[in-house]
Amino acid sequence: MESRITPRDQDYNQWYLDVIQQAELADYAPVKGCMVIRPNGYAIWQNIQRILDDMFAETGHRNAYFPLLIPESFLKKEAEHVEGFAPECAVVTHGGGKKLEEPLVIRPTSETIIWSMYRKWISSWRDLPLLINQWANVLRWEMRTRLFLRTTEFLWQEGHTAHANEDEAEQEARRMLEVYRRLAEDYLAMPVVAGLKSEREKFAGALHTYTIEAMMQDRRALQAGTSHNLGQNFARAFDVTFQDEQGRRHLVWATSWGVSTRLIGALIMTHSDDKGLVLPPRVAALQAVVVPIFGKQVDNETMITEARKLAAETGLGRAVEVDERSNLKPGFKYHHWEQRGVPVRIELGPRDLEKQGAVLVRRDSGEKIFIERGQVKERLQQLLEDIQASLLERARERQRRYTFTVDNREQFEQKLADPGGFLLAHWCGRGECEEKIQAETKATIRCIPFDAVEEAGRCPFCGGESRRRVLFAKAY
Ligand SMILES: [Zn+2]
Repeated sequence: MESRITPRDQDYNQWYLDVIQQAELADYAPVKGCMVIRPNGYAIWQNIQRILDDMFAETGHRNAYFPLLIPESFLKKEAEHVEGFAPECAVVTHGGGKKLEEPLVIRPTSETIIWSMYRKWISSWRDLPLLINQWANVLRWEMRTRLFLRTTEFLWQEGHTAHANEDEAEQEARRMLEVYRRLAEDYLAMPVVAGLKSEREKFAGALHTYTIEAMMQDRRALQAGTSHNLGQNFARAFDVTFQDEQGRRHLVWATSWGVSTRLIGALIMTHSDDKGLVLPPRVAALQAVVVPIFGKQVDNETMITEARKLAAETGLGRAVEVDERSNLKPGFKYHHWEQRGVPVRIELGPRDLEKQGAVLVRRDSGEKIFIERGQVKERLQQLLEDIQASLLERARERQRRYTFTVDNREQFEQKLADPGGFLLAHWCGRGECEEKIQAETKATIRCIPFDAVEEAGRCPFCGGESRRRVLFAKAY
């Protein structure tokens, strides 16, 4: 059977696009840089939404919806924010056949519109904290796009919270980053390094930005989620104050945090192989597929009936499907489901029927497990958990193997070129030096890891003093 997926070692970028194409996750839209998310891709996004919605509810957040269009003047109220986002904004100048009095920006992010509303909703300490999340699309005019990883329009969630003091806002920003870490590791089976962004890499308008960074199979870093302590910048810009218990007025403290459909790109690049998509069971819409094998010994109708029974016995409900197509050879069907990343294939042939058995095949390793029919539910549950755990372990192992401690410029450049990966190096803390390192090596500071130990050293590029190592990598 001819595979239409380019092997990773031949052309990694083409491999990524082929996996998306063959798994029918997304397609290119008529407008350059935009993407159509197809049902197989959208199902993954819906699972991510469900997982996060549960976690947001546990942490006391509620969902709301704010408009797509933002008055241009709003964006200009926070100086750093407008500087950061203006170049990427799409602006609506006409509506209803007339030129608008004030141009409207299509939201690149919603801090400004949300804080304009918080001004109306917050007046007393009793109104705080205000914990709101929005699921939405946003638009940032990107010059170089890639399916899921960087598209002009994308889907995300953006949390926007308001607090009475700095401590609470700081705790909130850290708490939500921890939610993202759990999503990445416990559900997406994607290990991450959590930490603080450098001043140069932080969100436009934030005091601090926190991030989780994952390593892809080509050993590049991918920023998988961010959380910002916005300080009082947006409260100041939109004049949002509250009265404390003693009747004094204060500016409100803010956070925002988000993850996007980029996570689907991260999933693909973390787990998939040369056969196609590999999905962790916890985010796979389809966890198993039953493939009846037709032959002369048993008529097709009986095989299909038995396959349906077997599917029901798995207890997976809508997460299991039967491939009833009788015009296709088993090999073709196996290939079809492998490309789509279904974690377990259940084969049922005439001989299995006779022996009251079935065969479970793991998508991640190809391992075949012969089981008795009566055990299918428990064996399958166990197998799905094993697959989930081993995908995480495999990704962790890769991250360990390709994380290097480097102490001078020569080591830095050498490891970055071959084999590539995460570099733990000292850094003087200066933005100009960081910019120079990027210009000369293409590596950026991904984060200052939370678990970085205090350790005196020297910046390998300028010799300046450093107190801890930071994480450098080439990134998506
Ligand atoms: Zn330096």
